[in-house]
Amino acid sequence: MYTKAYIGLGSNVGDKKANLAQARFLIEGLKGVRISKQSSLYETAPWGKTDQDDFINQVIEIETELRPLELLHQLQAIEIKLGRRREVHWGPRNIDLDVLLYGRETIDLEELKVPHPYLIQRLFVLIPLAEIDSELVFPDGSKIGEVLLRLTKSADTGDLRKL
Ligand code: ATP
Ligand code: CA
Ligand code: CA
Repeated sequence: MYTKAYIGLGSNVGDKKANLAQARFLIEGLKGVRISKQSSLYETAPWGKTDQDDFINQVIEIETELRPLELLHQLQAIEIKLGRRREVHWGPRNIDLDVLLYGRETIDLEELKVPHPYLIQRLFVLIPLAEIDSELVFPDGSKIGEVLLRLTKSADTGDLRKL
């Protein structure tokens, strides 16, 4: 059975676009995973820890037979393959792959929290997510349009530029 899931990609070190392209290539190559949609790329100011280079962010939709933890582990293996090292929390990284949503499941493990805990606070995730699925409904029943509206009322949308 295939489940629809959403992955957030980010990079702010090296050739950022190439890093995302390589990550997508490796994700597409995973057994039991196919990429069904891709958002545009967005150049975004760093979030949380702001004294670092801008990020390029993207969201992709996949259809997968992998269970959530298997998917996380495969994504972590890709991060390592692309040379990611353990570094400062929210610091610079050549690639970051987060599981944003997995079907309509809610997961609360130390290792994996879904929906991604900061999803609803991050325009650089919500905007590309809404771009590829404007009708998306979260596991708690909230609609992406409403969540986005709530956040844009309280945050500065100028920090994000579609490439
Ligand atoms: P953030 O989670 O705020 O985006 P980050 O991506 O910088 O921060 P990492 O250092 O990449 O955080 O990951 C820290 C840990 O988060 C990982 O070891 C992983 O087990 C855990 N984790 C929990 N939920 C998720 C998720 N939905 N997607 C990816 N990793 C997750
Ligand atoms: Ca992240
Ligand atoms: Ca991460």
